[in-house]
Amino acid sequence: MSGQKPYRVLLFYKYVHIEDPVGFAEQHLQFCKELGLRGRILVAEEGINGTVSGTVEQTEKYMEEMHKDPRFADLWFKIDEADDHAFRKMFVRPRKELVTWRLDEKIDPNETTGKHLTPKEWYELMQQEDVVIIDGRNDYEYDLGHFRGAIRPEVKTTREFPEWIRNNLDRFKGKKVLTYCTGGIRCEVLSGVLLKEGLTDVYQLHGGIVAYGKDPEVKGQMFDGKCYVFDNRISVPINQVDPSVVGKCHHCGVPAEKYINCANDLCHLQHIVCPECEEKHQGYCSEECVSELVQS
Ligand SMILES: [Zn+2]
Ligand SMILES: [Zn+2]
Repeated sequence: MSGQKPYRVLLFYKYVHIEDPVGFAEQHLQFCKELGLRGRILVAEEGINGTVSGTVEQTEKYMEEMHKDPRFADLWFKIDEADDHAFRKMFVRPRKELVTWRLDEKIDPNETTGKHLTPKEWYELMQQEDVVIIDGRNDYEYDLGHFRGAIRPEVKTTREFPEWIRNNLDRFKGKKVLTYCTGGIRCEVLSGVLLKEGLTDVYQLHGGIVAYGKDPEVKGQMFDGKCYVFDNRISVPINQVDPSVVGKCHHCGVPAEKYINCANDLCHLQHIVCPECEEKHQGYCSEECVSELVQS
């Protein structure tokens, strides 16, 4: 068995009907707290989406218990080893949707979704001529690392995606369209949106970048930079063969990979900084943010 490190971070989702998400969330929070887990889990009538951290023993127990539930018997946990917890607290929240799309017409990924590709299939297909690769994440995630040749979507939130797709449809027509995201959940619906817009050859990376980085054969090849993650780690390495840095310092433009929030509480802009600029600008994203603070 693997597990040299004492902690683990689990990433998982499943689109499956959950009756009474509010009641489920309450009970599930208790259960997670008793186990000693920390993290964020969203529950909706359409399913579950979560990321939690805990010791090897705690996470093992969690996966075991979840798999006993027929709804989650085949739930796929992506496992990362870690030195410590990746979260400070444990939240389980009921939601209308697992990912905030706010589509006019809801898409059920169990009915309408792109073809799932294994990391190996993805690696081979993405290098073909007639493909277009869409990064299914937000722009700031792309900026830290992405698949070679992928299109950077001009979106700040997932909600903006459908319109961006409609405006860019001509770029995708007649091509094999490949989508990917962190752990795969966003592509379940995103690829469905592409299909509904009339595209026919739509594929998604099963398990997302995180699963791709763990594949023993492809070893994260063709992924440049690091993968942004929504926990204390901020980013994780993916490419084990020829890793590179694609992030650039917000201030001076040198290659950098550290993301910080602007120190001005009214701004909090997430930006990449190099060590020198972080010190020089004291964590502020701009001169305006420094001066506004002085005035107030
Ligand atoms: Zn800099
Ligand atoms: Zn700022």
